[in-house]
Amino acid sequence: MLKIGVLNGDDIGHEIVPETVAVMRAAAERVGLGIEWENLPIGRKAYDELGTSMPGDTLDRLSKLDGWVLGPIGHQAYPKNPAAINPHPILRKHFDLYANIRPARSYRSLPCVHQDVDLVIVRENNEGFQPDRNVVAGSGEFRPSEDMTISVRVITRQGSSKVARAAFELAQARRKKLTAVHKDTVFKLGCGMFAEECRRVAAEFPEVEYQETMVDTFAMRLAMKPQQYDVVVTTNMFGDILSDEAAGLVGGLGMAPGLCAGPNLAMAQATHGSAPDIAGKGIANPFAMIISGAMLLDWLGRKKQEPKAVAAAELIKRATDHVIETRDQVTPDLGGTASTSQMGAAIRSQIVSGGA
Ligand code: ATP
Repeated sequence: MLKIGVLNGDDIGHEIVPETVAVMRAAAERVGLGIEWENLPIGRKAYDELGTSMPGDTLDRLSKLDGWVLGPIGHQAYPKNPAAINPHPILRKHFDLYANIRPARSYRSLPCVHQDVDLVIVRENNEGFQPDRNVVAGSGEFRPSEDMTISVRVITRQGSSKVARAAFELAQARRKKLTAVHKDTVFKLGCGMFAEECRRVAAEFPEVEYQETMVDTFAMRLAMKPQQYDVVVTTNMFGDILSDEAAGLVGGLGMAPGLCAGPNLAMAQATHGSAPDIAGKGIANPFAMIISGAMLLDWLGRKKQEPKAVAAAELIKRATDHVIETRDQVTPDLGGTASTSQMGAAIRSQIVSGGA
């Protein structure tokens, strides 16, 4: 029995998370996997109802679960008030969710900049330049004078080594090819340390072909020939930018799933934001969130040796592939006319009918 939390997040989160949970339930039922679900408050709704966007009780209850689905957070629109904080950096840090795994895959049925893309960017999630994550107190950004701002980037051996290991394990299970992306020609100490740790872990995975590429060269090669990459590991901000670039190559942010993984817990979190411009219209693409849910089941299944969870994830992926390939029940961003719930229902019916 798995225990999985459900946190809708903001804006389109209230539409795509319920579809995701319904799809995960259908897949679990079909393979006979027991899941205990727990709905937990977070984000704007939690702030309005409980006075804080990140209730302490939610953190406590999450710590008793195996993982959770987190919808996108629209913190830019929160009131300027210390109780209305962006909760996802807190979750990533509190539960040591150090590896952000972001796949990008093209589909023949969809207009893409490139076809035959199937890569995964593994981004370090808790250090780097992100000023809300890289210090325990204060901020990694400060302004000593009116005309000067200093941003500090934190790179540690431990953080680099952990994310490198997560990436090599993934590469080992995929096409056995890993590219570390950095710029140690300029950031000799910071990127240098990241690269040293990647090389150290590489020595433990002799079957994985390992290469290093400077971030600027990689950005160019990714745009020109993304098919040459399989698993890519990089530091926080490079990974943030490059994973959006990768999503752009295969159909946009609605097609960009993600998983934040730690030592014992994982959080399904799509790459895209809360899309306030389309919230409430019923047209958000649930693909990224649904595949993020499948990634969570797959990760939990492998971690806890629960083959039914891996099978449920596989069912969701196959059903989703089918709906994308036939393209008659997809949302407007994919050129279709289906609503969020119609696309979710089409995926569920593939799972239930056994078509997947
Ligand atoms: P954040 O900084 O929180 O990641 P963002 O600034 O990248 O957010 P998004 O909220 O991701 O912005 O939205 C960017 C654009 O992509 C918007 O036009 C939005 O409508 C669109 N978009 C994002 N997610 C989806 C989705 N699931 N389905 C359809 N369109 C989406």
